[in-house]
Amino acid sequence: MKKIYLKMGFIVLTLLLILTGCQANHGAKTGSTNSQAAVTNTSETSVTNKSVPPTETPATAADPTKNWLPAVGPISFPVLMYHSLAVGNSLMMPPDQFKQQLQWLKDNDYYTLTPEEAYLVLTTNKKPADKIVWITLDDGYRNNYEVGLPIFSELGINATIFDITGYQANPNSLDLDQLKTLKTNNIAIQSHTVSHHELDQLDDATQTRELVDSKQNLDSNLQQDTIAISFPVGKMGPNTAGLAQQAGYKLGVTTHEGLANSGEGLLSLNRVRINPNISLQDYQNLLEHG
Ligand SMILES: [Zn+2]
Repeated sequence: MKKIYLKMGFIVLTLLLILTGCQANHGAKTGSTNSQAAVTNTSETSVTNKSVPPTETPATAADPTKNWLPAVGPISFPVLMYHSLAVGNSLMMPPDQFKQQLQWLKDNDYYTLTPEEAYLVLTTNKKPADKIVWITLDDGYRNNYEVGLPIFSELGINATIFDITGYQANPNSLDLDQLKTLKTNNIAIQSHTVSHHELDQLDDATQTRELVDSKQNLDSNLQQDTIAISFPVGKMGPNTAGLAQQAGYKLGVTTHEGLANSGEGLLSLNRVRINPNISLQDYQNLLEHG
């Protein structure tokens, strides 16, 4: 009798060891033989089925922040400010330097935000990657298409152009076809008002027209909900943020220097001006500290 119990105990132990062996095998990602791979796959399938309840939805557009990283303190991040991509004055960024800077962002694992993602970072305090940046270009220069788009496409970088909607027929400005092509290539088009008047010089009704009409132009021509505005020359009157919110904007960017964070108000965000001829070391400092 005692012998039989011992034998059964031995069999149970052996079975347990075999089962444990299978579990340990699950950790190995690559099987050296086909049969091993088959075992691993079966095991993975069963584990996955067990750990994910059938009611749980996968990461979808319904909650794009589902897999983002929550932050301990309030998130600050750089919103880079560019204008024309050309050689010239201090508002112009030479194309070779622009490409070098964007290549640096890519090499250093920066995630380039869309306006919608920037809004989610500021409102959820979660981020899609450790290092994030929102690249913006003001004024809608045609060279943003001719020079910028090939660079953006080659490097797989997202950026946002703030377009002056009343300038779309100007020879040096982006026309509607170019704006549409940029949009389909992951370059967001947002508002820089209709006529680029400094809003602190205008009465409330005129400001509202600048804000509403430019949004309507982009909403209807690009079939989108335009959520961000760059205030011309960074100028805001006491009512400008409120009027922009009433017009339907969720984010407003200024020319105040510094990293952006929700504490300064979603409609008056800081930016980081990028001047030509700075070193990559200075560029890094600006990205990290504003
Ligand atoms: Zn401007």
